[in-house]
Amino acid sequence: MKINEEIGEVLLSERSVLMLFWDKNDGWQVAGNGDLSIDAALLKNEGLEGLRAVVKDSDLGLFDAFLERVKENVEVGETVPSGTSSFFDAAFHLKTTDGSFRYHKIECHFKTDELGVVRKLLVRIPELEAEDVYRLHLAQVITNDKNPSFFNQEARAIMDSNPDKNFALIQFDVAKFKMINEQFGEEFGDELLDYFIHTLKLLCGKDQLYVRLTADVFMLLTPFETKDDISRFVEYINSNLLGYKGIPYRLVFGVCRIRDKSANLRKFGDGAALARQSIKNDVLTHLAFYSDEMKESAKMHKFIEDSMENALQNHEFVMYLQPKYSISREKVIGAEALVRWVHPERGIIPPMEFVPLFEENGFILKMDAYIWEEACKAIRDWIDRGVEPVPISVNVSRRHLKDRLFVDILNNLTHKYGIPKHLLEIEITETIEEAAVKEGILSLKESGYTLLMDDFGSGYSSLNMLKDTQFDVIKIDRIFLQDFISSERGRNIVEHTIRMTRAIGLDLVAEGVETKEQAMFLSSCGCDMAQGFYYAKPMTLADFNMKYSVG
Ligand code: C2E
Ligand code: CA
Ligand code: CA
Repeated sequence: MKINEEIGEVLLSERSVLMLFWDKNDGWQVAGNGDLSIDAALLKNEGLEGLRAVVKDSDLGLFDAFLERVKENVEVGETVPSGTSSFFDAAFHLKTTDGSFRYHKIECHFKTDELGVVRKLLVRIPELEAEDVYRLHLAQVITNDKNPSFFNQEARAIMDSNPDKNFALIQFDVAKFKMINEQFGEEFGDELLDYFIHTLKLLCGKDQLYVRLTADVFMLLTPFETKDDISRFVEYINSNLLGYKGIPYRLVFGVCRIRDKSANLRKFGDGAALARQSIKNDVLTHLAFYSDEMKESAKMHKFIEDSMENALQNHEFVMYLQPKYSISREKVIGAEALVRWVHPERGIIPPMEFVPLFEENGFILKMDAYIWEEACKAIRDWIDRGVEPVPISVNVSRRHLKDRLFVDILNNLTHKYGIPKHLLEIEITETIEEAAVKEGILSLKESGYTLLMDDFGSGYSSLNMLKDTQFDVIKIDRIFLQDFISSERGRNIVEHTIRMTRAIGLDLVAEGVETKEQAMFLSSCGCDMAQGFYYAKPMTLADFNMKYSVG
């Protein structure tokens, strides 16, 4: 714990709060236990720059925003009207290092001399009793006390009075807020948002603003000098808003610098929204800064969503085939169906630009069914022309696996085209097991398809998944292969992975084989099937037929 290193041994009883203030000359000074008495003169000469509270073994945090407010509110030498009590009164909760919560409130009083002149400030951070906490929640109705148009006006006013400062808009929301509502009840959801509003009030200092835009989306305005200032402010907000009542939820922040203060703020608000949306599915990141590429990709998204239905009708989605080779026999033994969007004006659009989007908006169900049918047609054509067909593997997004209909679609297709099930192979990307997904996999297996575990080695539970798997074939991921094959140690891991996989009776395909050396190494380890640019890139069916005279 840093506290002791910074301020020396402090002995605290279980429930007391130690108040510290930062003095320019003397560093952290203990100001009182539970009560803080600040000399008003200290405020004026700016000697007091930080305020901090600690409890036993935990740092409750800095109250700099609070300090700013104090400084705004007190004029040394000013006389305070009699009857003025606490001018600052707010409640909040803090998470301690052991993960428990403490509810506190801040009270601030003037201490005046006989003439009524402010001499001292008394700050208390008493802990709230359970009953107070309860009443506090009751008293909190969801108040949108700063509505958006008011926010814009205020933001404008703040920027006008700070012509030399840079400003940024920060938008944040609760990731998967709907799920939180479902899981913990809407009442909890409302309470949480209430709590945010209440806490933001405390956290936003001078020249900062907050507003609730819609249900769980908030906007903040903050001045900054460097990008780090913004990141620090975001961390400050994030750490104080997380962990309410010990419920796990995640906040996602998008930032957009206001590059032109005379322009309509909305533009930058939209930028912050785009930045936020760009990471909403990424559990590892909670902060993104707007960039112009985001605007481009948002445009691209819109274009894709506007034209996908038409594209399907117009047969713009085209099945490409990438051959799979037997390394030892130097012969094509199968192919993977990979979609390409051949757009009349834009040319070929690669799947990474639209597949993830289709997975999100559900269109993947239609597009994949189309590709599966193209694969069946190709196999039918080979059979009809009397050439020995090779199996085609098709990609099945995990989105399908929860939808029982897709097994019927596959069965109907193989039935309609009279295709032996072993000729249509199914590639599924390995991720965390879910019950619904497991069922989908099982019913595929029961229908008689060969199942390939795609991208093996790129996820986290690879080895664990082999334990009692329904899969028949493991596809070693391209990145895994290329990363590992370059070092002795890595080659060892690849070799043992292959041997172990074989030992439990599974077959292997290596993906992304780019050199002869890679192919030879794989073969020597017991993996004879390879797919990659060393052999061939994905190509049209016509090219495939010509090149391999499969057809
Ligand atoms: P994937 O299923 O892992 O497909 C393999 C990707 O690796 C393909 O990219 C392929 O062109 C590429 N590749 C193969 N060999 C090499 C190599 O030696 N070097 C390099 N650098 N790359 C190689 P592609 O076609 O761009 O597809 C990307 C991803 O899009 C696929 O990854 C798959 O997840 C998805 N996808 C493609 N077609 C479909 C489809 O019809 N349906 C669904 N649901 N997803 C698809
Ligand atoms: Ca694949
Ligand atoms: Ca793959």
